Amino acid sequence: MAFGIDLGTTNSCIAYVDDAGRPVVVRNALGEYTTPSAVYFEGRDSVLVGAAARNAALLAPDLAVQLVKRHMGRKDVEYTFHGRRYTPESISALVLRELAAATERRLGRPVRDVVITVPASFGVAERQATRQAGEIAGLNVLDVLAEPVAAALSGQERHPARGVRHLLVYDLGGGTFDTTVIRMDGDDAHVVCTDGDRRLGGADWDARIRTFLLETFAEQHPRLDPGADERFVQDLWIKAEQLKEELSSSLTRHKNLRFAGKAVRAELTRQRLEELTADLLDRTMKITEETAERARAQGVTAFDEVVLVGGMTRMPAVAARLERLLGTTPRHHEPDLAVARGAALFALVRQAQQGDAEDVADRLGISRAQAESMRSRRVTTVVPRGFGVKVLDHNDPLAHTDPLRARAYVVHLLPAGTVLPADTGPVAFATAMDNQPGIDVEVWEQNGRESSEEVADNTLAGRGRLRDLPPRLPRGTPIHITFHMGETGLLTVHAVEPASARQVRFDLQIGGLDRADVERARTAVARHDIGS
Ligand code: ADP
Ligand code: MG
Repeated sequence: MAFGIDLGTTNSCIAYVDDAGRPVVVRNALGEYTTPSAVYFEGRDSVLVGAAARNAALLAPDLAVQLVKRHMGRKDVEYTFHGRRYTPESISALVLRELAAATERRLGRPVRDVVITVPASFGVAERQATRQAGEIAGLNVLDVLAEPVAAALSGQERHPARGVRHLLVYDLGGGTFDTTVIRMDGDDAHVVCTDGDRRLGGADWDARIRTFLLETFAEQHPRLDPGADERFVQDLWIKAEQLKEELSSSLTRHKNLRFAGKAVRAELTRQRLEELTADLLDRTMKITEETAERARAQGVTAFDEVVLVGGMTRMPAVAARLERLLGTTPRHHEPDLAVARGAALFALVRQAQQGDAEDVADRLGISRAQAESMRSRRVTTVVPRGFGVKVLDHNDPLAHTDPLRARAYVVHLLPAGTVLPADTGPVAFATAMDNQPGIDVEVWEQNGRESSEEVADNTLAGRGRLRDLPPRLPRGTPIHITFHMGETGLLTVHAVEPASARQVRFDLQIGGLDRADVERARTAVARHDIGS
């Protein structure tokens, strides 16, 4: 059995596909379908994960990690608790391990083969880090899959493959917003374009409600200052989020606020909430409109479906505004579970692809024809952001005398959106100076969604050196560089000086940790007792 895991910024969720071919979300130890992606370091060898961790974090934020997904793939982020060091990968592994353990307890079978989802905007380093988080948790990661593609697949059971369809996925979660246009060609899913705001999500709505609650209290008791009381503020966090969620199904709700012996009944209507947060929703709509515009420039003129993803899209205002913007009634079906469901369906596909049809039919208990159709299913992976090499600007005279001070820029050999696996074939560059003994090949990944040749808009992903070039090479001697990137994002770089056939070939494990680090972290994570 294979599982799909939505490893979310605020909440995570796990699903599998049942005997009838339907994806089923597995409830956690508390009976809930989603588990907060929060980790609380109670003691040296004991951690809390999930709702308990989230609550404990309110009182002791220094012992807790939340929103770790924002730091995935970053080597400069590290946490220390009770004298032990943790990377974003090992923190995420603790969340994954808790999901797996709760599922094993509930289903009574092992969780091993998984597909984990990532935002479509994740670069290779973040994808690799996510894969490694799975490995650290002791899981076999069949693949990582873009969240909007997973959400699109989760609707496919109801709309079996037929021709080319375009979907717009609008995903508003707890701390991030993403919108993505996907082309489904039969069973083949392809990301056309994606955009979002990594700092916009449910927490911003909660903050507005907290301000409203504090102001309501202050109106009645202007001389008291509950905002300075830690307990009161923590309680406010919880009440604000509850109010927001309740107002998705009610038109008006109230909360009682108590401080210094005074009680205030604060009432909030859905309409007032929408007014208080109108600019936030506007921001998501503006990004959605721009994304739709970019898709149009790529020939996508209409959307067959608009898919809502993320807990925040349970707010009625979201669907209403999107319908006005795009003229299509959005698909609205348990938006916070769709990603895990789609990942579970895809996990089955990936499993099916690892074996012949007969064997797959046997293993999965499906007909041979079903197995055949599953094996042919494809999800096109694209290079999420451009990859290239740094070169010197030959128009800068310093390039030939003092290359360290000369202007350099990045040439993207694999532009964002290139379908994987991809091979550039040899691309010709040239040496900058006479008698160059060797060449540094630096691989850079584009930072934002816009491609830019400025070095500052790219991040160094790795490097190799072509050594021992023959003596007395004149400047301008051609050097051929080839990039090959596999579906998992493993980049192989080959640089050769054709005349002498001197060459260097290196693989870039882009971002992430090296093997030994993964092993070490796995042992460290396995040592923790997890409570939830
Ligand atoms: P993420 O993908 O960021 O991990 P989710 O998709 O689970 O997170 O979304 C979490 C956000 O959704 C939280 O801000 C939560 O308050 C909000 N949310 C959940 N249910 C509702 C609801 N019924 N109405 C409004 N917001 C909701
Ligand atoms: Mg999500």
